[in-house]
Amino acid sequence: MTDRIHLSTEQARGLIEKYGSPLYVYDEGILRRRCREVRALSAYPCFRVNYSAKANTNIELLKIIRTEGLQVDAMSPGEILAEEAAGFAPEEIFFVPNNVSLEEMRFAADRGIMVSVDSLSQLEQYGGSGLPRRIAFRLNPGIGAGHGAKVITGGKSKFGIERNQVGRVREIAARFGLRIVGINQHIGSLFLKDEDYLAAAEVLFETARKFPELEFVDLGGGLGVPYRNEPRLDMEALGARLSGLITDFTGAYPRENIGVVVEPGRYITAECGVLLGTVHSVKENYGETYVGTDIGFNVLMRPVLYDSWHDIRFFSSPEGGGDLRKITVTGNICESGDILARDRELPLPRPGDIIGVENAGAYGYSMTSNYNSRLRPAEVLIDRAGGDRLIRRRDTYAELLRPPAP
Ligand SMILES: *Cc1c(COP(=O)(O)O)cnc(C)c1O
Repeated sequence: MTDRIHLSTEQARGLIEKYGSPLYVYDEGILRRRCREVRALSAYPCFRVNYSAKANTNIELLKIIRTEGLQVDAMSPGEILAEEAAGFAPEEIFFVPNNVSLEEMRFAADRGIMVSVDSLSQLEQYGGSGLPRRIAFRLNPGIGAGHGAKVITGGKSKFGIERNQVGRVREIAARFGLRIVGINQHIGSLFLKDEDYLAAAEVLFETARKFPELEFVDLGGGLGVPYRNEPRLDMEALGARLSGLITDFTGAYPRENIGVVVEPGRYITAECGVLLGTVHSVKENYGETYVGTDIGFNVLMRPVLYDSWHDIRFFSSPEGGGDLRKITVTGNICESGDILARDRELPLPRPGDIIGVENAGAYGYSMTSNYNSRLRPAEVLIDRAGGDRLIRRRDTYAELLRPPAP
């Protein structure tokens, strides 16, 4: 069962009238519940949760996540700036990029932010620079997990330093006088069974024993949410097994108070978001029923990029809708692949009805684009008292047509 925003047809219509369509809507209560659940995974005093902000970088959401005691990771200078704007201090930000330039590493290091390198090549570049000598590296433990090849990052992928090159990390660090103070990994995104995550955690702990100066180890994210009513990830079981591994590792590790970090993105923000849009046309073409909406893949990319499933509902008045029909829901982008949901059994909506796309809070807005010269949508927060407020305005045509030089 997913934890979902409950909007009535009247509320959905009211939000669209007030803020325009399409529209991302987030629920503060659900967001806070997810933060607390992840923080409760382990009682180890130096256990920390880094929210992986690429899932949703909205500054108002980052501020809420910060008040829940989470820290953050960043993939780019832009994410660092968003996190600083939300109030995170340099020591609460972890820069874990992939294939960045030395200038980008310097951008982070100059601000006092811990940098993780993703290859021996980058470790050498960093070592040869005058940047601070404390550094972390990303291990590729050779184990992957996730919902598809595009998001499995452990094993054969471009990420991290493979296990049998860890000796070289120590050599290079020694040559440049670098201190390896952190090891991190991230094996992929969206698992609902924790075996691979825990197996990879064991590999990380084993590797960490070879580095006596560590201040933290970071097990990565990837915790899944049910998009299709699958059973939820069993957080209690994961927490219990994880805590066991943490106790074994920290008990034997030479340095006291070593930090143990998990780094979820999707798990924190997916369920708190629903994407609202408007039905513009309903038609039959060669035996298929197409429902055309304003939610193109410039607004929600996951179905097109990953063949992802998102539950869909229509807000029709009067509520309830008619008989179920097999329909294909599409967007307004000029590509035949612009399909939000194929062959769904749903009540046939009418033009003007509102559509809701569930579980849209992670990798939704953060992957939007201006393709077809469309404006990226606005974002709205529903607070715990039920009030709504704009937390990012829609793009404007002036932004789209900005002059080539200032
Ligand atoms: C994307 C990413 C995460 C978060 O992944 P989720 O599947 O959203 O939990 C964590 N760590 C790193 C290094 C990442 O790139």
